[in-house]
Amino acid sequence: MTTSKTNPVHDHLENNPLIAFGRGIPEYAAIQPEDIAPAIEHLLEQAQLAVNHATSPSTPSTWEALAEPLEDATEALGRSWGAISHLNSVADTPALRTAYGAMLPEVTAFFSSLGQNLALYEKFKALKNDTSFAKLSLAQQKVIENSLRDFRLGGAELADDQKPRFSKIQDEQAQLGKAFSDHVLDATDGFVHLIENEAELAGLPPDAIEAAAETAAQKNLKGWAFSLHFPSYYPVMQYAENRNLRRKMYEAYVTRASELAPEYAKGQLDWNNTENMLQQLRLRDEEAKMLGFESYAALSLAPKMARDVTEVDHFLADIAQRARPFAEKDWDELQVFARDSLKLPGPIQPWDIAYASEHLKQERYSFSENELKQYFPLPKVLEGLFGLIQTLFDVRIEAANLPIWHADVQSFSVQNPSGQIIAYFYLDPYARQGKRGGAWMDDARGRREFSNGEIQVPVAYLVCNFAPPVKVNGVLRQPTITHDDVITLFHESGHGLHHLLTQVGALGVSGINGVEWDAVELPSQFMENFCWEWEVLEKMTAHIETGMPLPKALFEKMLSAKNFQNGLGTLRQIVFSLTDWRMHSSLNVKTAKQQAVLELSREIAAKFNVIPQPEISRWPNSFSHIFAGGYAAGYYSYKWAEVLSADAYAAFEEASKLTGTVLDSATGARYRAEILAVGGSRSAAESFKAFRGRDPSIDALLRHGGLVQEEVA
Ligand code: ZN
Repeated sequence: MTTSKTNPVHDHLENNPLIAFGRGIPEYAAIQPEDIAPAIEHLLEQAQLAVNHATSPSTPSTWEALAEPLEDATEALGRSWGAISHLNSVADTPALRTAYGAMLPEVTAFFSSLGQNLALYEKFKALKNDTSFAKLSLAQQKVIENSLRDFRLGGAELADDQKPRFSKIQDEQAQLGKAFSDHVLDATDGFVHLIENEAELAGLPPDAIEAAAETAAQKNLKGWAFSLHFPSYYPVMQYAENRNLRRKMYEAYVTRASELAPEYAKGQLDWNNTENMLQQLRLRDEEAKMLGFESYAALSLAPKMARDVTEVDHFLADIAQRARPFAEKDWDELQVFARDSLKLPGPIQPWDIAYASEHLKQERYSFSENELKQYFPLPKVLEGLFGLIQTLFDVRIEAANLPIWHADVQSFSVQNPSGQIIAYFYLDPYARQGKRGGAWMDDARGRREFSNGEIQVPVAYLVCNFAPPVKVNGVLRQPTITHDDVITLFHESGHGLHHLLTQVGALGVSGINGVEWDAVELPSQFMENFCWEWEVLEKMTAHIETGMPLPKALFEKMLSAKNFQNGLGTLRQIVFSLTDWRMHSSLNVKTAKQQAVLELSREIAAKFNVIPQPEISRWPNSFSHIFAGGYAAGYYSYKWAEVLSADAYAAFEEASKLTGTVLDSATGARYRAEILAVGGSRSAAESFKAFRGRDPSIDALLRHGGLVQEEVA
């Protein structure tokens, strides 16, 4: 067959693998860097046409006429772009990176323009007020309400004369955030401690010494160089016997980007973040007040599960109070150990804490990570994980044959008991060249029900970076993973289940979409609990040579090591969370003095921690989560989600008292229906209550963390 080729660009569209898949699955292996620009330009054009059509006066403000066509167009763009971003993360090449980078600004600009489109806002408001609104499903209504909320938080309701100031605030915040993180990075990079006498390295593990020699060589120095990057810094704090070395490194680390940093002594550099922090807090406060909120903390709660500022404050203070006796015990033990076993002269110092903790931990619970790893061959772990999912949620997981991007990638279908496919997922398990580090779950396609009754089933990517299998005597050995890797796999599969087992038909709130920010880690952390359950581990382990399950004694050691010094660890997290929370709620930024943030952190530490905050510490000056990340007035959400997931898991523990197994399918069915299936279609608080029959309680988290007094008869 021949076709006339008068329009090469158009021709490239017809065979373009980024468009050809329609609502299906892209042929990942066929996607070439040169496909990207024509496909994305075309899809951007289509999406813009859909926006223009949606905002035209003749378009009725109904779901079918307004919301659905807009969703079609933005989904098509989002899915193609998603496939490219995915490849950029897992199969990067210089050409792909360039093609991706070239289109990134246009795609970002398109999506942010939607939030600023006032004509669109008016249309959505009209839809909310239309008689047809009441007839929409609750999920569809939630999509509309979420959009309206996001328009408002983006400043859509502001008077015209306020808008320029509002957008200036956004720009300044972005710049200050960037400067904050640059300063932290410069201060981290700017310090190197060189050791020329090998005796000073005593206690350090060989790999840390090797890395330090390499760092020195890179800088054309003789000896061993240590920097403030965590992988270089932390082994010194844990292992170096040289107390002065620990002190020097510690002091440099906790004064980064502050007026006390060693760099400032030379008077040459200006990486001090003290003023930057106050400026950011002032801008955030101004933004919140423009939008009608009492504080930035209150504004940040608008799309979150926590109800109000006081609730979060009380939540954190409550955990601190309950953890305190355990932290006091941890702290006493550590001081006694440092004095009597380590024979450190004088009182324990801040630069002794990690060192003493590591040695105490080794003395009590040492076991070989490598020995442990032999019990976790990946196929056995997957069999255990899939078996658990099948038992709890009444589904079947079977190998599928979806298009893949690398030979190591596997695909699976999820079926209901009658054999009908309800979802698919990918597993890309191993680290390799061109693949970004870490582990994540990503949405490859969301569940959607169309007006004509058709259903699009969801697809997820589960990506990990486990060590690839190795050949022993020419034979490929089964890959084994560490217990930490097992936890990671369960965590990501928890996100995956949230995405895959959804029953919601409106894309904006199906699966993980539209779930409140502080509740999104519930299903993932929930799954981690099974990795500490003997019943599960016993069946999920088989020694690579003997085939024997994990010995119970080794499991008991792992369990004790898990909660080692959890009292102290918990209070440390509470100090971070409360400092973040109160600087965005109770601190008066208008009258605040230069060191207000530091003083607030000291006040909170004095009240809630048992370890005094060292005079020299300037830790807020490098608190990038808050001043250069997305966690401003949000750090509490780590603990918040831990409470939800632990409490949800406790329902399975309670069931096991009656049924003898945590893999209780009746509880699993309820969890699936009330938490996983509903996705973002209703509030996380309602979902939790529907599952648990009550509001969340912190008790299970404290119990799992060993922060509850053992009952004595
Ligand atoms: Zn997660």
